[in-house]
Amino acid sequence: MADLRIAAIAAVLLASSGSGVAVSQDDLLERFLTPAPQERQRIEQVEIPVAQERQIGEQQFTAFERQLRRQGIRLHTSGPDHRYVRQLVTEIRPLMSHHQRYPKIRVWIAQTDVTDAHAFPGGRVVITSGMLEFTQSEAALVGVLAHELSHIDRGHQLESLRSFLAAQNSWKRGSLDDLMAGGRLMMNAFARPFRPEQETQADRDAVRWMMQLGYHPDALADLFERLADRDRGRRVPLPGFLRSHPWHEERQRDVRQYAAQEARKTGVRLDQLDLAKENWKDRRPRRLR
Ligand SMILES: [Zn+2]
Repeated sequence: MADLRIAAIAAVLLASSGSGVAVSQDDLLERFLTPAPQERQRIEQVEIPVAQERQIGEQQFTAFERQLRRQGIRLHTSGPDHRYVRQLVTEIRPLMSHHQRYPKIRVWIAQTDVTDAHAFPGGRVVITSGMLEFTQSEAALVGVLAHELSHIDRGHQLESLRSFLAAQNSWKRGSLDDLMAGGRLMMNAFARPFRPEQETQADRDAVRWMMQLGYHPDALADLFERLADRDRGRRVPLPGFLRSHPWHEERQRDVRQYAAQEARKTGVRLDQLDLAKENWKDRRPRRLR
């Protein structure tokens, strides 16, 4: 991998020095990191068969599980919390654009105080017991789970692989422009494992799905607010759900704005939506009441 990366940088340096335009290192770096619209299109056009996706997800999950085990954190697939989360995921899944590609979403609870959640390609979700406790309402928990399902639905975790494959395709074509594009695509494959705009997309999908299921989107905004309050003045190592996400305050603001906009668009009355706190306390989904 490292050799290819060096080749990619060399290719772009070669191509840009050949163009005769003087550019600073920062400009170059920014160019590496920002795929042009047609490159973005090339990334999106790369198809990954579902069987391959599942395989990738399984590998990532196994590595994650091993990492947790080293920290003494156990994963559960039984008990009231697990059943509850699984029931909620079953409610959300049909709202995914590609729900047919993901007929089954598997769920694990990681036993730790850390507030976190992860999604893996192919349809796997891990939520920590710390996050489950921190949500304080069924609406917020649905928001967190919906956010993770959105990452799966939009194939966000496959973006690096797609960039990598798109880079290879570019290099096969072989012109100088293709070589340049290949270099940028390759950098995109390694530079940013999670992009902030993907987090915003996942938050917005979560808001829409919450509203469609009758949950008040403020629950998700409030969750971000409480995370911001908790972490204020505290430098925490940011784990998966929080890593490279826009700051909690920004996410909180965006969720509220987007919810208001969606309410206007769809005619949904926010005051008629539910936080379902009692359901969360009883671990009994609102729909099953
Ligand atoms: Zn996320």
